[in-house]
Amino acid sequence: MSAQNLDTLAQTSMTPNAIETTVGQARQLFTTGVTKPLAWRRQQLTAMNQMLIDHKDDFTAALAADLGKHPAEAWLTEIGFLAAEIAHTLKHLQDWLKPRKTSVPLALQPATATTVLEPLGVVLVIAPWNYPIQLLLGPVIGALAAGNTVVAKPSEMAPASSAALARWIPEYLAGAVTIVEGGVPETTNLLDQRFDHIFYTGNGRVGRIVMSAAAKNLTPVTLELGGKSPVYIDDSVDMITAARRIVWGKFMNAGQTCVAPDYVLGTDSALAKLAKELPEAIEELYGADPSHSLAYGRMINDAAFSRVAGLLAIDLLEESGSALVAGGSTDAATRYIAPTVVHVDAESALMKEEIFGPVLPLVSVESAQAAIEFINQREKPLSLYVFSEDGGVRDAFTLQTSSGALNFGVPVAHLSVPGLPFGGVGESGMGSYHGQHSIYTFSHQKAILEKPLSLDTLGLIYPPFGAVKKQIIKRFVAPARKFRKG
Ligand code: NAD
Repeated sequence: MSAQNLDTLAQTSMTPNAIETTVGQARQLFTTGVTKPLAWRRQQLTAMNQMLIDHKDDFTAALAADLGKHPAEAWLTEIGFLAAEIAHTLKHLQDWLKPRKTSVPLALQPATATTVLEPLGVVLVIAPWNYPIQLLLGPVIGALAAGNTVVAKPSEMAPASSAALARWIPEYLAGAVTIVEGGVPETTNLLDQRFDHIFYTGNGRVGRIVMSAAAKNLTPVTLELGGKSPVYIDDSVDMITAARRIVWGKFMNAGQTCVAPDYVLGTDSALAKLAKELPEAIEELYGADPSHSLAYGRMINDAAFSRVAGLLAIDLLEESGSALVAGGSTDAATRYIAPTVVHVDAESALMKEEIFGPVLPLVSVESAQAAIEFINQREKPLSLYVFSEDGGVRDAFTLQTSSGALNFGVPVAHLSVPGLPFGGVGESGMGSYHGQHSIYTFSHQKAILEKPLSLDTLGLIYPPFGAVKKQIIKRFVAPARKFRKG
């Protein structure tokens, strides 16, 4: 972190008292009821959109400073991505918020039953550093659309993005969203406060800290976590296109993407064909020397660089049978790790933890079924990517594996489909968001039953229970039914 960035943090980090006041103000605004009308929600989303347009260059520069992100990638995966999410939400919000009627059992009629969505209150969003703008504002869009106020904490590991958010949010979303900059002490102080929902994106270790803190107040949580997202590929696919797509999904943001393909499983024959195409695809996307490509990012900090370079070095040094397929070079001074592909053993260092960097291990398996078993023996992944033209293989993965998402033929892209829920399962997280799913995440679904007093049909179920009433209850109010087997 540069001296200037440290200064920024020092100037803006909040004392525990200031944090308590901030959360109190967010609650006060919510309690006035001002956030509930559709008009207020639309106003906040429109203001956020305007902020993204007005200060696109600032956010782009911050992403370049933190992660070496190319402006086109910054637009595709962060700023433009958010603009699309806002547009989708503005288009459908009125419809999503409509009360939904449901049928009423005969014994309760006449009556009407409706589900209405009500905002939860004050939402805490804790964001990570790898997509520091998208992963902070994405949940905020949902929380505001659902009528909540928000306190949001960007990651201290992406100081330029954090500073840009802290600078512009107050100008466009004052009151509705408050940014609290800082690291562990500030997050710990925030977690001491009472919230109505906590939305955390990051690693499972901190996810557990967040969940324990939330338990004190029975606050619901969404945990967007990570893990190793596998790819399975077989001989049946167009290897050139598959290799290009895998390279795109893996090496975007220098592999620091929660849904990046972590490793590839395939038979020896499929991996041999893929290994031939991957270096070509890397060159196609990033040139002969990716260290000169403006489209290729850098590791976020020295610790992240050393961790990934260390895992690679262990595998290449040990007599483990690992073989370099592409890349392999590193430069600590610029935190550069070349797009690297390495054929490894299932027990290698690279297969022991989420890589979260630009190294792609290839691991041989005997068959699609062996790949399914390999995946099922490990934690449930955030995403699973299958490249196969065989419908039977695709069905087997659908039916026999569990993951946050399952894509056929393309990695990462499911994030851009706003109608799909985005989230993990098991160790990769709980809950989901994006589009209408965000509305459900940040709302309470309140059940409303209205029964007119004018006609008291309920008399049939009131005591005392004589023989006639017992018959009526058994036959008409709560009859036992028999169903055919199967
Ligand atoms: P990070 O270090 O930025 O941490 C995330 C947040 O947790 C930060 O705001 C940080 O201040 C806070 N934090 C850190 N330590 C804390 C503590 N002890 N107590 C309270 N708060 C604390 O990000 P990270 O965890 O390194 O992010 C990488 C991980 O996140 C990877 O596992 C990746 O797969 C996962 N991830 C998941 C998603 C998703 O959408 N599912 C998206 C991005 C990243």
